[in-house]
Amino acid sequence: MVKNYINGELVEAVSGQFFDNYDPSEGTPYDITPDSDERDIELAVKAAEKAFPKWSNTPVEERSAIIMKIASLIQRDIGEFARAECVDNGKPLALAKTVDIPRAIRNFEFFASAIHGFSSESHSMEDKAINYTLRNPIGVVGAISPWNLPLYLFTWKIAPALITGNCVVAKPSEITPVTAYMLSEICIEAGLPKGVLNIVHGYGHKTGKAISSHPKIKAITFTGGTKTGADIASIAAPMFKKLSLELGGKNPNIIFADCNYEQMLETTVLSSFRNQGEICLCGSRIFIEKPIYEKFKKDFTAKTKKLKIGDPLQANTDQGAIVSKEHMEKILSYIQLAKEEGGTVLCGGNRVELEGRCKNGWFIEPTIIEGLPYNCRTNLEEIFGPVVTLIPFETEEEVLKMANSTEYGLASIIWTENLSRAHRVAAKIQTGIVWINCWMVRDLRTPFGGMRSSGVGREGGIEALRFFTEARNICVKLQ
Ligand code: NDP
Repeated sequence: MVKNYINGELVEAVSGQFFDNYDPSEGTPYDITPDSDERDIELAVKAAEKAFPKWSNTPVEERSAIIMKIASLIQRDIGEFARAECVDNGKPLALAKTVDIPRAIRNFEFFASAIHGFSSESHSMEDKAINYTLRNPIGVVGAISPWNLPLYLFTWKIAPALITGNCVVAKPSEITPVTAYMLSEICIEAGLPKGVLNIVHGYGHKTGKAISSHPKIKAITFTGGTKTGADIASIAAPMFKKLSLELGGKNPNIIFADCNYEQMLETTVLSSFRNQGEICLCGSRIFIEKPIYEKFKKDFTAKTKKLKIGDPLQANTDQGAIVSKEHMEKILSYIQLAKEEGGTVLCGGNRVELEGRCKNGWFIEPTIIEGLPYNCRTNLEEIFGPVVTLIPFETEEEVLKMANSTEYGLASIIWTENLSRAHRVAAKIQTGIVWINCWMVRDLRTPFGGMRSSGVGREGGIEALRFFTEARNICVKLQ
């Protein structure tokens, strides 16, 4: 049973109510989650406010040591964490073990050490005056995260918020609460002082909304859908809260004929279907230069057909379950839309019914569609599942126009061996992140985030440390 973590204690929701948590690979409830509301958020904010003076004045070495301890305890329990993430989300166990949980650990380790290099600036005005910048923690901050990379994205927000001396009220997705609950147990064991981190579980429209509208929460870091981001901004902006919004994407994967073909093909299978396509950075629109279109289509389809869809707990599974029935139905409705818009399904397109333990689970075949115009709904709207479209192109100008045609601007991928072209296209593509001849290579020091409807603000490295602090300039007259 998942519990809230408020003021250092594991407690039930004030309402005393719970809702079911599902195992997507079986399609059945297997646990219960507290149905929290504004009363629980109020308790969490009070605890955070109380903890703030001491935590913000705790020497940075001590804060860093506690955060490192949290990282090492997750490392100790990595097997349990990976299994829990796999069962809760439906992702393959191997992926949780090699990506999600190690990266969550790395988030804590990275920010626990990055803080030591975080210095303030000084601006000298010759002999007139000298300015220096103080960067103080904000106070109580809110963090709201999605279900696709549950612990990984949750810690991406919590680690920089805590290390800069803030106290946090956080809500993981109601669909995948378990590893956040396990993290609360770890925080208690690591000796994180009471109230410094509070994790409140519940629905977005209740618990999440109570975070965005609470007057004492001065900053909100949110990762999730664009519509939810807009709702949060409409509440938080008039209250002058600091906002960092990491939202949806419809990322282009641009393949030029001169690319390193084998490398491109192997990585494109991953960038299309990893985590069932439920990664905001997946390349869901694949643009292929005409001379290699037919060859790519044949090879890519053949490789995709070999992906093993199966029980996420099995070591040889490539594709696990879709996170919820509702999301599975949304993806299937987009495949139907693609057909209505004139698309041809080259492979996949259907729900998969497995045998044994997973016979009622929510699985979808990796799906490749061609023959759609770049500006139809299927190619403009985020599907967030194992569905990609193939679109041929002739010129750089044409592919840039098509790639930049959605409202989103999160990430893009470019495959070419032509160095000048790679830089030229990267400079003109409207996304916050551009990968050239690779995908998902992450250096935690780099700015992470999207343009346009993919978000506001940047996370990662110094950007995150700056977001969670308030800059104040002190000007000292010298004469
Ligand atoms: P949602 O926007 O539905 O939910 C994200 C979080 O917000 C959840 O915790 C949710 O709670 C909560 N929430 C929902 N409604 C509200 C509200 N009115 N006020 C406050 N909080 C609310 O996104 P998903 O969980 O479906 O995640 C998928 C989306 O996340 C995709 O669009 C994907 O592109 C995006 N994403 C973006 C990333 C990026 O870095 N840019 C990375 C990963 C995902 P509940 O679960 O209870 O609804």
